[in-house]
Amino acid sequence: MDFVTAFRSAAENTEDARTRQIAQNLAAVHQRIDAAIEAAGRQDRPELIVVTKYFGAEDVRRLYELGVREIGENKDQEAAAKAAETADLEQLRWHFIGQLQTNKAKSVARYAHSVHSADRPKLVRALSSAAARAVEEGHRETPLEALIQVDLRDPLPDDQRGGAAPADIPAIAEAIAGSEHLHLAGLMAVAPLGEAPEPAFERLQQLAARLSETYPEATELSAGMSQDLEAAVRNGATRLRIGRDVLGERPHP
Ligand SMILES: *Cc1c(COP(=O)(O)O)cnc(C)c1O
Repeated sequence: MDFVTAFRSAAENTEDARTRQIAQNLAAVHQRIDAAIEAAGRQDRPELIVVTKYFGAEDVRRLYELGVREIGENKDQEAAAKAAETADLEQLRWHFIGQLQTNKAKSVARYAHSVHSADRPKLVRALSSAAARAVEEGHRETPLEALIQVDLRDPLPDDQRGGAAPADIPAIAEAIAGSEHLHLAGLMAVAPLGEAPEPAFERLQQLAARLSETYPEATELSAGMSQDLEAAVRNGATRLRIGRDVLGERPHP
């Protein structure tokens, strides 16, 4: 059964109004993904990561019950608390997608499957030792996945905010690939504010193609949010990070 049909039927079969709403939203988002794939002539289907920031652990449970396994969060404190509250949901995978300070690496490496926001060698080193320690302490078994977050603003101002300059990708990739506790999975970006997403995602796809020449294992491209998922699908996104179109407007801005 395809996702749209599955979520529509889940919506019909639940007594909980919030679960019904989320299932209907998931059906609608998957319908957009299907249409975008078809329009782009793609054979593969990007994975949907549902971004639960600002929503409670009850919504993570509702998502799990509906079959969602990939969850995105952008703040360590909030993510760590939710991961602890849902520790019994064994197949859940947490994707850390926000700006990350090196002193939070230790915490993130305990619960995250993937960090999409590796954007500087110093953070990579912190994640590497944190992942090693998390293995030693029994918090994880597999290497921590890392994606390099790229700042797509063009021209690039020098107020470093979340995201590496494209020129810094090779050094960061080398640091990730050189760590036995990390796995270089690919690139991630957010479309720059006030710019059409399409040209930015085109540049991202070119950067990803270049990266995979050196690192063929780096196949993931994390791009596309509620507003711009179609542009991301057209430009090769393999992971979409969708929050509000699944869970609704966030309780806080
Ligand atoms: C919040 C967030 C998203 C989801 O955005 P929506 O507009 O709610 O779909 C995706 N990526 C990142 C990095 C985010 O912080």
